[in-house]
Order: sequence, then structure tokens, then C-alpha cells
Amino acid sequence: MITKSPQETENLAQEIAQKIKNGGILCLYGDLGAGKTTFAKALGQALGIDKFSIKSPTYTYIRRYLDNIYHLDLYRLEAIDELLAQEIDELFQNTSNIIIIEWADRLKDNLPAKRLDIKLEYVDENSRKITIDDHS
Ligand code: ADP
Ligand code: MG
Repeated sequence: MITKSPQETENLAQEIAQKIKNGGILCLYGDLGAGKTTFAKALGQALGIDKFSIKSPTYTYIRRYLDNIYHLDLYRLEAIDELLAQEIDELFQNTSNIIIIEWADRLKDNLPAKRLDIKLEYVDENSRKITIDDHS
């Protein structure tokens, strides 16, 4: 589908939040500026996180909110090391965790099969093409 404003992308994220509110892994794909963080923030807000507290993790790969919600941004990850792979794997083990991953493709084979894939693509300044693939 196409969203024609950030607000429309946020509305979509709020709907999608219902699918993972009891646990799940949601992967966001797309270039810089595609809208991954915009999507993740609206999703987090729908799950009850204060919108001002949600930022993309910059100095760390993982941020945790409200007990069991995790926001990962792997943009800066060049190669996954054993320790981080293990840490992320432990998060995946607990199926009640809600895990939102930007640049999920960085995880390659470490990514569980059961997940929701969301691809965002730039169309023009205010429009994005959003493709949803539910592998749950
Ligand atoms: P990413 O995390 O993928 O790098 P961001 O969410 O940080 O992307 O940035 C997306 C930018 O694009 C924001 O400034 C946002 O306001 C803008 N934008 C314009 N149109 C849209 C749209 N339809 N959906 C999402 N973001 C949009
Ligand atoms: Mg981002």
C-alpha cells in the first residue's frame, strides 16, 4: 500500500501494533529516511510507551521499554558478534517479548522464521510504499 503522509504511516503502525501486542517480532526494512523510525515510534506509542521517550537506539543496538518491548536499530552493525547474537537470541526465546527491529537484514540467519516483515520504500517526499509480509 501507499501512505501519503507520516501520519498515514503512523496510523498503519498503530493498526499493526494490534498484531504483536501479545508478543512478536516485527522487522522493518528500508533505506535511510524510508520511515522505519517513524513507524517504530507510532507502534511503540500504540503499545503504551510515552512518545517522547522513544528514540532510535544510537549508542547501543537495543533499547528496552516497559518490561518487554525492545527496539533494535542495527544500522551500525557491520558484523554480528557472538555476544550480541546470543543476547538477541535470548530476546527471541521469550515469545511474550515484543521486538521491533530496524535494519533486520543485518541479522541474516539469526532472524527467526516467525516474524512480521514490513518494507518501506521512498516514493516521493511525502509518500512511501509499504509492503507487509506476515510469517506468523
Ligand atoms: P528511517 O528510520 O527509515 O531512516 P525516519 O522515520 O527516521 O526513517 O525518517 C522518515 C522521514 O520521512 C521523516 O522525516 C518523516 O516525516 C518523513 N516522511 C515523509 N512522508 C512519510 C511517509 N508517508 N511515511 C513515513 N515517513 C514519511
Ligand atoms: Mg531509523
